[in-house]
Amino acid sequence: MDTTAYNAIGAVAPIPLHGSGDTGKITYYANHRLDHVPQLEKLDPALVEGIRLAALVFPFKVNSYVLDTLIDWEAGEQDPIFRLVFPHPDMLLPEDLASLRRLRNAGDPTLLTAEIMRIRDSMNPHSSNQLTNIPIFDGRHVPGMQHKYQETTLFFAKQGQTCHSYCTFCFRWPQFVKTGADKFEADDGAQMLDYLRTRPDVSDLLMTGGDPMVMTTRRLTAYLEPLLSREFDHIRNIRIGTKAITYNPQRFVTDKDANELLALIARLADAGKHVAVMAHVNHWRELEPEPVHQAIAALRNAGAVLRTQSPVLRHINDDASVWSRMWKDQVELGMVPYYMFMERDTGAHHYFGTGVARALSIYQDASAAVSGICKTARGPVMSAGPGKIHVLGRLSHGGREHFILSFLQARKKEWLNRPFLADYSETARWLDDLTPSGGDNAFFFTHEYQQMMAAGNQAENPAAHAGGSNA
Ligand code: SF4
Repeated sequence: MDTTAYNAIGAVAPIPLHGSGDTGKITYYANHRLDHVPQLEKLDPALVEGIRLAALVFPFKVNSYVLDTLIDWEAGEQDPIFRLVFPHPDMLLPEDLASLRRLRNAGDPTLLTAEIMRIRDSMNPHSSNQLTNIPIFDGRHVPGMQHKYQETTLFFAKQGQTCHSYCTFCFRWPQFVKTGADKFEADDGAQMLDYLRTRPDVSDLLMTGGDPMVMTTRRLTAYLEPLLSREFDHIRNIRIGTKAITYNPQRFVTDKDANELLALIARLADAGKHVAVMAHVNHWRELEPEPVHQAIAALRNAGAVLRTQSPVLRHINDDASVWSRMWKDQVELGMVPYYMFMERDTGAHHYFGTGVARALSIYQDASAAVSGICKTARGPVMSAGPGKIHVLGRLSHGGREHFILSFLQARKKEWLNRPFLADYSETARWLDDLTPSGGDNAFFFTHEYQQMMAAGNQAENPAAHAGGSNA
């Protein structure tokens, strides 16, 4: 079994392909083993050549479960799951694709590496000002943490900064390949616990990545079990973001430490913690295989609540019928639809982004096709620098068309529950493309947000009162 992959710039740094201790039935392929994927023989050689070039820039990893069970190889590049895991040449601008081809053919690894880095850094690897989310405790940044909204902290365990397969659209792509941006990762949980100990206003810890479910149960236990101590009673909700349910359902069913994992979840739930498995599901096809049903049932039996989220993605799920079917299937399986996000302004945004107007119409049409208990997903939502901005709808007023927007989460609590308007646009792709309605040259929060970013502060993240300082 292959357990090591190398990043896209040659054999520079080994990265773990998985750490969950599975029983060895799954094979992994990453950038340097792309040509070993047996099914690629079924594709047009010109497309495979384009995939090779795109995989120089974007992270690529896929496992044999996804290859054999989820992808419809008869549909080839039209298959949404194929697009979900194989970098496509159209994810690169034509001029970048041409220069990669020229430099690779010239055989100069130094120039090729420099060009790969230039292209990656041109793709906004630190979207939404994430660096400003790193909390400060005792005068120092807390490694591997983000704290943007007062009640919720994110934790990036170093051992969880990979995934069972990579998604081509992932906004966390700089976690997996070298860019000019820093990575978020913590070697151990000690500083995270120190920080949480002094933050009684934090109720939620989100274990994120990568995918925390690539870690062994022993490691996950080391991170999570301390939260059962009375001093962490204020951490009421433990969220685990994962795509393992559909990329590697064996993690919860047949892996050699699957039972221990379920027992850990049961211990947390029995102790009164709300254990929320935040499942990434991008298409209903991922939910069809029987092992997925077994994984969902096992997690629910252990006491976890499963909530689902995905961006709306061109080439993958930009169709209302895909979303309505996905929400119906999720509810039937006992999952709670939670978010329809907008694709973030990073990576191959030009390739996956649908635009605000189209995402809104997909959400509205999908929502109209399902019953009330399937309408729990909020969307479309932009996880932008100032906060999570919900596109509530479209309004005709004063002879003009507008988007109605509102914060679901915000860096400053006063920004919440204040609906605001932007001029309707068929072409706007992100918050930065929207124009405030009524002739204003800024939204009500713009000036304050710019001041926060200039100061490098996290609003509503008063680390100072916890013994730390944001200075
Ligand atoms: S599984 Fe999640 S973190 Fe990993 S590549 Fe996919 S979207 Fe990104």
